[in-house]
Amino acid sequence: MTETQAREAICRLGASLFARGLTFGSSGNISVRLPDGGYLMTPTNVALDGLDPARLSRLDADGTALAGDQPTKEAVLHRVMYEGRADAGAVVHLHSTHSVAVSVLADIDPADVLPPITAYYVMRVGRLPLVPYYPPGDAALAEAVRRLVGRHHAVLLANHGPVVAGTSLSAAAGAIEELEETARLHLLLHGRRTRPLTAEQVAELRSRFG
Ligand SMILES: [Zn+2]
Repeated sequence: MTETQAREAICRLGASLFARGLTFGSSGNISVRLPDGGYLMTPTNVALDGLDPARLSRLDADGTALAGDQPTKEAVLHRVMYEGRADAGAVVHLHSTHSVAVSVLADIDPADVLPPITAYYVMRVGRLPLVPYYPPGDAALAEAVRRLVGRHHAVLLANHGPVVAGTSLSAAAGAIEELEETARLHLLLHGRRTRPLTAEQVAELRSRFG
């Protein structure tokens, strides 16, 4: 993907996420790692349905802003994901309603927040750890994420929202959308007896699809 194509893909994804109610106001941010090691990132204080390909923040490999508008205030979350995952080509962070709702539940397992409801959740998200609450932009939040990213490409920030890395922008988007829909299913099923996939079924998926 060339830089021009990446700029257009970020804007298309932002508009699509906004149109489907997965992001709102000026929440949510998207980034892509470019072949030269630098990054494209959505700017601060802009709605994802109003992105201009020419005004996306362009950062170098050290995270220094080179061109475009000022990057999102949550840029450090993206940096930590890339630093911890050499295979990460894109990162998407949302304040999507159902994922945030699940992050607030009192009785979730912080080591793995959602049950394996469907095969696609297991394949695209896998285990989802909860990152303890810290104020947005707090250095301790980035450090808490850093401790998890070597083992997880998706994390859920408590009382805040999910951060997901993917090998490509479409992979990151597919995973965070799967996470949001699984959170919605989990809430729909609240109070009912359920049959999530068994440990054997989950292990079989992991051996078959990695
Ligand atoms: Zn956020």
